[in-house]
Amino acid sequence: MNPFENAQVQLKKAADLMKLDKNIYEILKQPQRILEVNIPVKMDDGTIKVFKGFRSQHNNSRGPTKGGIRFHPDVSKEEVMALSMWMTWKCAAVNIPYGGGKGGVIVNSHELSEKELEKLSRNYIEAIKPIIGPSKDIPAPDVYTNPKIMAWMMDEFSRLEGFHNPAVITGKPIEVGGSQGRGFSTAQGGVYTLNEAMKKLGIEKKDTTVAIQGYGNAGYFAAKILYEQGYKIVAVSDSKGGIYSEMGLDPEKVFSHKKKTGSVKNFQDTKNITNEDILELKTAVLVPAALENQITKENASKIQAKIILELANGPTTPEADEMLFKDKVLVIPDILANAGGVVVSYFEWVQNLMNYYWTEEEVLGKLKKIMADSFNQIYKIQQKYKIDMRTATYISAVSRVASAMKHRGHT
Ligand code: GLU
Repeated sequence: MNPFENAQVQLKKAADLMKLDKNIYEILKQPQRILEVNIPVKMDDGTIKVFKGFRSQHNNSRGPTKGGIRFHPDVSKEEVMALSMWMTWKCAAVNIPYGGGKGGVIVNSHELSEKELEKLSRNYIEAIKPIIGPSKDIPAPDVYTNPKIMAWMMDEFSRLEGFHNPAVITGKPIEVGGSQGRGFSTAQGGVYTLNEAMKKLGIEKKDTTVAIQGYGNAGYFAAKILYEQGYKIVAVSDSKGGIYSEMGLDPEKVFSHKKKTGSVKNFQDTKNITNEDILELKTAVLVPAALENQITKENASKIQAKIILELANGPTTPEADEMLFKDKVLVIPDILANAGGVVVSYFEWVQNLMNYYWTEEEVLGKLKKIMADSFNQIYKIQQKYKIDMRTATYISAVSRVASAMKHRGHT
């Protein structure tokens, strides 16, 4: 289950259906550029440790490449390549003027001190500096990276350039050029698409049951926003395991418990469950918000949800996709469902470039329009061709990329 192979299978499926020009397909099936770096960091005990990192730029026909940086022990070159390709489709699917990129460092950041984490963040930026910049490639947060890390990275890039350069990276704290709404925009964008899907299926929000796998930035904010809108969050999990309550959970209380104990597990009046169990619960909505390859041919037939909102990147394998489609599960695919993050990153970059900042209301108004319009446009493609939502999203995204390539004379 190599995520890059999965990404290639998804592209091939859409390319065949839409009869994509062979030359364009040849170019799009791999990234344009992958940089591999070895990053030395002087640890607190005085020894040097060398961390391996990557930055992959999949395609820049529609604009500078864009995408997060992941700090995780399971990062690999193939994973970063897949994630960069998904970013190309994501940006095209919601029609923002970027290509796709992604970075990653193989590290268990929880084992680093604050000082070591800062050094790693700064040294990684120094290492990939030749290929990034506000009109080249713009990083952002991803799994286990956050606004604090983005601030260090922006500072390092600016220091090396010799001038303040906030547009090099997004997802920064508000005080150093971040955008209102960016912190919860991935989840918020997903909820906008989910609400559109609910209307299509004629399901009321009130007391609609939801299970969420992952309680990081995407999972936690999804729980919070959905709860505030009247959905009933019955199960959540993190890397250590999950909890279930038929009565429903209060996401804020679960969050404080996780902060105190390090996990959502063992929360009062709930039953502990595993990360596998959470996918198979009888809920109306399932939100994978953790890592790749969670819904596979092994468990897809056991999924009971009517709607899957993919806030994680790559949670469903191509075989599982076929099975879910047969079972009439509506999958709102990652490259649409979690695009809210990069959409508000785009707004942040625009605000940095013009040095003029919007209110949260303005940001969310623009985000809602983009997410709802994109969902509805893709839903129409899906209805017309009787295909799954992922393939419909690919068709929309890949045709935008292909026409940019044609205009630029790349074929
Ligand atoms: N890492 C996020 C993603 O996978 C956000 C990327 C960005 O804001 O550039 O979409």
